[in-house]
Order: sequence, then structure tokens, then C-alpha cells
Amino acid sequence: MSAGTVTLRLVAGVPTVLLEQLAAARADGTTFAHAWPPALDVALASSALEREDWAAALEETIDSWRAAFEGCVATRSERALAIVAVDPDRVPIGDRECAHCGGEIPATRGRQGPARYCSPRCKRDAAYARERAALARVA
Ligand SMILES: [Zn+2]
Repeated sequence: MSAGTVTLRLVAGVPTVLLEQLAAARADGTTFAHAWPPALDVALASSALEREDWAAALEETIDSWRAAFEGCVATRSERALAIVAVDPDRVPIGDRECAHCGGEIPATRGRQGPARYCSPRCKRDAAYARERAALARVA
């Protein structure tokens, strides 16, 4: 292995190495069940740090890896994640996320207690949504 490869892997990260390994295995006609264990081993070996955390995270997302390997259409949340991941203008979200829209809760909110919503509008819209859901259950 050349020094250039090592540098690339340190920069690229464990998921990228796993992706490359799985793509190569699929191109060779290997099934996911046979491709996953050695690909995971190579990917984890590429990381000097946090190997156990990566192993746990990757095992927890194995269904998504399998679906991608088998060419299934990504779920809505997976597509949303892909959009966020590739957007160079993305802004990291703060610690506090609105329970209705998922936006950041401004620091000016929640002085009397923990704020759940970013704005009065989101608070109201969430209340309407709860009412509609309750009515739907009754009807
Ligand atoms: Zn909101």
C-alpha cells in the first residue's frame, strides 16, 4: 500500500472505505452476505480511532447498506441525509432543534423553560397537527 493510499483513507473515512469495498465486491458479482464481513474488516482497519464506535454505527445501518448494495431505492430520510451531506453551504444546526420544523431554536427563546419550538407559528402549527391527529383517531 502506498503512502498516498493511506493519506486518502485517513481523509476519506471509514464509510468511504466501506463503500469502495462493497462497490468492488458487487462489481465482482459477490452477494452482500459474502461482501459485508471482509468489507467491514477493511473499513474498520483503515481507522486508527473509534473503531468500536464505527463498528456499532455500521452494524446498526446494515439494512441501508444492503439496500444500496442491492440497488433498492433509498428511503425518504436517506435521500434527505444525502442532500444535507453534499450541500457545501449547509449550516451546522445548534443543540436545540424545533420539535415541529426541525430548525434551530433561537437563543432568545426558552427563557422560562426549555423551548420545544423555534417560533410561535411552529408551536401553533404543532398544536393544530396534534388536534387533527386526535380528531382523526376519534372519527
Ligand atoms: Zn420550527
